[in-house]
Amino acid sequence: MQIDIRRIKGMSSGSLEVSTELPVPDLGRIVEVDQVLTPLQVNVKVTNTRTGLYVEGRLETKLSLVCTRCLTPFLYDVTADFTELFMQQTSAASNQSEEEIFFSEEAPSYKGDQLDVTELIYESLLLELPMKALCLDQCKGLCSECGQVQNLGACQCKIDKTDPRLASLADLFKKE
Ligand SMILES: [Zn+2]
Ligand SMILES: [Zn+2]
Repeated sequence: MQIDIRRIKGMSSGSLEVSTELPVPDLGRIVEVDQVLTPLQVNVKVTNTRTGLYVEGRLETKLSLVCTRCLTPFLYDVTADFTELFMQQTSAASNQSEEEIFFSEEAPSYKGDQLDVTELIYESLLLELPMKALCLDQCKGLCSECGQVQNLGACQCKIDKTDPRLASLADLFKKE
């Protein structure tokens, strides 16, 4: 997402706001996405401060993720706020060798009339995703015998095969 910053470039404390929609990137390496229900709604405000361009924004999207335990899709609302200060790239910086640029952990920068906030937005989205997608914190997963989703109730195999504790309980009832 490129923001045209010409309007606030030479204007200390000038700011502008942009709202747009972006496609949700491929999240396959982090979570299994069943469906992207809404695109990324992004709102970004850029303020020209004395040190650089200060970006504050919010992103929102609705995803249907696949639970890692029971494999059932569930709704996952994502909302994230993000901020970042972009420094103007100086000519000294552009003289750096590629290696220096690669290894330097400098603040993000911009040059020219465009400010690219794509990476900032996508990184903020990734940080908001669950480490492990679960439909419920206590999701019981699938029965290893019949594959039934255990959150929907115990299946027949659990009752028949049993836990020895339940078996002795069943015996007790039989004796009576
Ligand atoms: Zn689940
Ligand atoms: Zn079962």
